Amino acid sequence: MSEPAIIRPDKQTFLAEENPFEAMMERFDHAAKLLNLDRGLYKVLRNPEKQIIVSIPILRDSGEVEVFTGYRVLYNTSRGPAKGGIRFDLNVTLEEVKALAAWMTWKCALVNIPFGGSKGGVVCDPSTMSMGELEKVTRRYTSSIIEILGPDSDVPAPDVNTNERVMAWIMDTYSMHKRHTVTAVVTGKPVEMGGSLGRREATGRGCMIVTREALAKLGMSFKGTRIAVQGFGNVGSVAADLMAQAGATIVAVSDKSTALYNPKGLDVQELLKWVKERRQLGGYTKAETISHEQVLTVDCEVLIPAATENVITRKNAPHIKAKIICEGANGPTSAAADKILEDKGVFVIPDILANAGGVTVSYFEWVQDRGGYFWDEDTVNRRLEAILVRSFGEVMAMAEKHKVANRIASYIVAVDRVAGMHRLRGMYA
Ligand code: GLU
Repeated sequence: MSEPAIIRPDKQTFLAEENPFEAMMERFDHAAKLLNLDRGLYKVLRNPEKQIIVSIPILRDSGEVEVFTGYRVLYNTSRGPAKGGIRFDLNVTLEEVKALAAWMTWKCALVNIPFGGSKGGVVCDPSTMSMGELEKVTRRYTSSIIEILGPDSDVPAPDVNTNERVMAWIMDTYSMHKRHTVTAVVTGKPVEMGGSLGRREATGRGCMIVTREALAKLGMSFKGTRIAVQGFGNVGSVAADLMAQAGATIVAVSDKSTALYNPKGLDVQELLKWVKERRQLGGYTKAETISHEQVLTVDCEVLIPAATENVITRKNAPHIKAKIICEGANGPTSAAADKILEDKGVFVIPDILANAGGVTVSYFEWVQDRGGYFWDEDTVNRRLEAILVRSFGEVMAMAEKHKVANRIASYIVAVDRVAGMHRLRGMYA
C-alpha cells in the first residue's frame, strides 16, 4: 500500500515529533498496514469528516470586546453520534483538535460503545477570565456550532480546563435554542441536571482498573508498587487516590505549579484537601520538591502521565524507570518515544484504553438521559469495570496475535471496528 500525500496547512507550526496529528497518523498507518486496509478505506479514515472554525466575540468585564477562536472537529461518525470533550486552553490548535477527535474515534471503537469521535477547543486562558466571561465564551461557542450539536449528532463533554459548570451552560444554551430541555446533548453534567453518578471519577477509575490488570499480567499488584503521577487534575488525582486506597505508594505527583516527591509515599488524602482549598499543589511543604522532568524519571514501577500531549519524548524516554506506563492523558507519548519504550520492554497501557473510562461513563450518562432512568453508582462502576476489563483483554490478545506493542494492538482493534462499519454501510455518493 503506497502512502497518499496529505497536505496539512498548519503542520509547520509543530516540530515533527510534536505534531499530535502526525503522531496519531503514524500509529494509524502502522495498524492499517497490519490490517491490510484497502486503499479506499485508508483514504477515508485518514481524513476528518468535518472541521469547524468559529470566532467568538464577547464583551469582557473591562468593557473591551475580545474575539476568541474556537474549533470543533468531527473525525468520524460511522459508528454513531460524534463524542468528545471541549478544552479551553491557550495551546489549542486545529491540528491538535483533529488529533484529539481521531483519538476519540479510536477510543470509542476500542471500548465498543456506539459513538464516533469529535473534539472541540477554544483558544483562551481560563485562569485570567472571570466566571461571567467564561460563561459568555461557552454560550457563544455553543450557539456558533449549534447546527452540529445534538444527542444524535455530536455530544460534547469536559476536557482540559472545562468542567460540570461549563457543561451545564452548554446544556442550557442548546435547550434554549431547541425550546425544550435536552439533557443528552452533553455529558459530564452536574448529577442534579442529568449527569451520571461516577462520571467525574470515571477516567481516573478507568486508569486504576487497567493498571491493576497490567500489574496482574506482570505478576504484581498494587501492594508495594510505587507510582508517579504527572498531572493532578481530574484524572491524575482520582487515579492516585484510588491506587493509594488499593495499597500502592504514590511517590511523586505534579501539576503546573510544582512537583512533589517522597520515596516513602505521599499522603494523597492530604494533597487532595490541599488542592481543593488552594487549587494547586504549590506551597505544600511535607515533601521534597523536584523538577517537572524528574517526575517522569523517578524510581517507580508505574508512571501515569495525566496532563497533556507530548510529555514522553525521544529525549526523556531512555531515562524512564517505570515498568508500566498508564496514559491518563491523550497523546502523552510521541511515536519516537514509543520505539524506545518498546526496546526497553516497558508495558504501555495506551491512552485510548487507559483513559477510556471517562467516555465509557459518558456513554452511560447519555443512555440514562435518553431513557430518563438513572442508575446507582455501584451499577455504573460495575459496568465500567466490565467494559474496561474486556477491552484490556482484547488488546492483549491482538498484541499477541500480531506480535506488536499494546498501542498498535489497540489501534488494530479500533480501526478494524470503524472500517467494518464503513464496509457494512457502503458509500453514499
Ligand atoms: N475528554 C474526555 C476524553 O478525552 C472525555 C470525552 C467524553 O466523555 O466524551 O476522553
